[in-house]
Parts: sequence; C-alpha cells; structure tokens
Amino acid sequence: MVHLESGAATDVGHVREVNEDACLAADPVFVVADGMGGHQGGEVASSIVVEEFARLGEERYDVRRGAAAVSGALAECQRRIQAYTAEQRASGAREWRTGTTVVAALLCDDAGPGEERWLVANLGDSRAYRLEDDRLAQLTVDHSLVQELVTAGEIDEGEARRHPARHVVTRALGGEAFSAGPDLFELPLGPGRLVLCSDGVSGMLSHAEMARIVGAADRARDAAAGLVEAALAAGGEDNASAVVVDVVG
Ligand code: MN
Repeated sequence: MVHLESGAATDVGHVREVNEDACLAADPVFVVADGMGGHQGGEVASSIVVEEFARLGEERYDVRRGAAAVSGALAECQRRIQAYTAEQRASGAREWRTGTTVVAALLCDDAGPGEERWLVANLGDSRAYRLEDDRLAQLTVDHSLVQELVTAGEIDEGEARRHPARHVVTRALGGEAFSAGPDLFELPLGPGRLVLCSDGVSGMLSHAEMARIVGAADRARDAAAGLVEAALAAGGEDNASAVVVDVVG
C-alpha cells in the first residue's frame, strides 16, 4: 500500500469577511471547495462537500468503485445544497443562491502494486496540478467564463487573472450549473507532488510563482502553507486554500 504525506492551508485573505473555502486532506481523499453565496451560504455549501467526501475515506477503492463513490458523493452534495437553498427560500430569502466549486482527488490502490491511480474530479475553477521534474502541470481545465476566452485565444492567462468577470464559473455544485456534470479523470500515481487549490491562490499568483513555491518546499505541508502565504502577500483578494500531497512510499 502506498503511503501519502499531505498538508492543507486556508486563509480568509485580506478583503473577504468570511472564509467560504473548505479543505480536506484525509488519506485517501483530498478536496478543495470554494463556496459561493451571500451571508453564510457559501460556507455551508463548501462544508457539505468536505463532510460528504470525508465519508469516502473509510475504505480503499479500485478505479471503477472509486469513480462510482465520487459520483455518488457529488450527487449527495448537490442534493443537500439544493435542499439547503430551498429551506432558505422558504423562510423568506427568495433570491437565495448557494453553490460551491469542488476539486477532489481520490487515491485508488485496490488493484495491486503499480496499479495505483489518482482519480480527479472537477467542477468550477478550483484546480489540480502536478509537479513532475520541477515542472508544474495543470491537470484540470476551469469551468469559467475567462477559461472560455483563453481557450478561444481572445485573452492570455495573465489577462484572465485580471479580467472583471474572472469569478464567473460555468459549472458548480448547487444550482442548475451542476447539470453538465464534473470532469472526472484518472492518472497514474507516479512520482510527483499533487496540488489542489482555490482561485484565491491560482488567481493571485502566476504559474511560474506557483511552480517555484511548490518545487522549493521540502514537505507537502510547507508547500500548502507557502502557496497561501504567497497569495496573501500578493494581495489576498479572495479566500485562499491549498492542499498538497506527496507519494512517499
Ligand atoms: Mn474563490
């Protein structure tokens, strides 16, 4: 069985009043969720994601069962967030909208040595990266308006980080935006460091800055803390969260 070392860091930042991000680092499941919504709504949505994914950590999975477990957890999150929204609307908050992004990685290692896989699920603009040979590769593609502009070649990554519509996500857990479903993919565990983060990290730092911080840290928890510290130093305009996982054996 492979052994993982991980760390998580999250901070409200310098501008927002509430930290609506939530993180989970509980081998074999790792999650960053970035909640959206007025008052306490976003915080509720992201904490539902952490609760539901924490339940997955009670067993080991092969890829097929892992994919079913992740899809089931996402469906249960969607059901609970919609029930919460309906409750708020019934008690008078008619325009209540609550949602959250989710990026999750589940270690699937039940098929034997050498067959271990990361199963990664993504909805929204929180991201998964992997550091291999000092090169940081982005694994997920954002479900966001600015990503569509980047893909179309209309703006570049730097412009995307400063774009007025940079917070608009096109898929999320919560409302109708869930209907398109998550991106779900598997990759060999391999060597290398896995990074999950909210847009409060990836939106404040360039790709090169992130690669330098993740590559320079000795331990996973130092890498997670370093990313969040750097996001705060760069302005801390949003809640900032990072989860980092090393495969050590
Ligand atoms: Mn955010």
